[in-house]
Amino acid sequence: MHAEHTNDFIEDVTTLEQATVTKRTLIDTKKRLGMVLDFLPLGLLIHQEQGILFANQTACMILGQSQESLIGQHLLDFASMAQADTLSAFFTEAFGSSDIQQVKDVKIPDLNGTEKLYRAIAATLPWEGTPVVQIVLQDITAERANEKQLEQLSTTDQLTGTYNRRGFIQYAKYLSTERECCHCSVIFFDVDHFKKVNDTYGHAAGDIALREIVLRTETILNEFNRTKKSHTPDAKLARMGGEEFAIIVPNSHASTTAILAEEIRIDIAGQPVGSSEKTFNIQVSLGVTCGDLSKESIDDILRSADNALYAAKNSGRNKTVLSDDVNVEMLEAPYQPISRRTHR
Ligand code: GH3
Ligand code: MG
Ligand code: MG
Repeated sequence: MHAEHTNDFIEDVTTLEQATVTKRTLIDTKKRLGMVLDFLPLGLLIHQEQGILFANQTACMILGQSQESLIGQHLLDFASMAQADTLSAFFTEAFGSSDIQQVKDVKIPDLNGTEKLYRAIAATLPWEGTPVVQIVLQDITAERANEKQLEQLSTTDQLTGTYNRRGFIQYAKYLSTERECCHCSVIFFDVDHFKKVNDTYGHAAGDIALREIVLRTETILNEFNRTKKSHTPDAKLARMGGEEFAIIVPNSHASTTAILAEEIRIDIAGQPVGSSEKTFNIQVSLGVTCGDLSKESIDDILRSADNALYAAKNSGRNKTVLSDDVNVEMLEAPYQPISRRTHR
């Protein structure tokens, strides 16, 4: 009997100790959970309609304030002014719907004033009292910069730094869909006897010539873009492949574009290209057309310009030919250089 009582006593004490440990662990867990939230690599805000109830350490770092000072403030106060409208709509939606997550990319300047981009994900919390949402802020600045860089790489010609074919097609699409600018002219041009240039002076010299063509053409286009009507989108050059280039000139009649084409032709033929060791002359042939991107594809317009280029090649090269389907009498405008340039 005596032994049994002793055992009961020991069991009671053990249970009590365990309960105390459990209670302490619970308290610790709460603390630890707080630490877990603080060390999350994501900003976390518990937000009422009026303002912030709780912010973890990462959110404090993002918003540049202490936990205490953030309480009662509103996320809207930290986002860039330009986003005020869309961000208040984001809050209205977040507080209005119980089961749908709201996602919005928000620009928030850091302490140095550099704008950072965050993905804000809001979800309603089952909270007693006034409605509460949890907002997670994920820094996507680097991710977005990488995406932009990849996008740029995929639309840029590596040898010359100008657009490639993909960039050209994308720009044409942007003109017709986002700028509502469907009337355009296109110049398609190709270096004359370029195989012979490579064979005579070497492939590296050929590359230098291609870069020089881009440099000179872009100098002319920059001047053209500077003096065009301000609401008209820029004319752009692209290397379409090998020694073939195209220029799209928004809102321009083929006659004006033919004058531009002639200026490019004369410029390229007028000055030798190459390195200090060896210089040589090159020439280009050009085809010009115009089209309406709401009625035909950019590929159709390019094909028409390519046909005109083919005619230029067949009729002696180093010349500009206007496509059959444009009004030839418009070409009677006298050739006037846009500006006088000097080469290096
Ligand atoms: P045409 O006047 O009829 O256009 O004659 P072409 O010799 O210019 O035309 P062809 O199509 O026969 O030759 C094009 C040459 O362009 C052949 C190719 O080696 C050269 N080429 C294509 N891409 C490059 C490049 O990136 N660098 C260099 N150096 N040459 C290139
Ligand atoms: Mg060629
Ligand atoms: Mg060619």
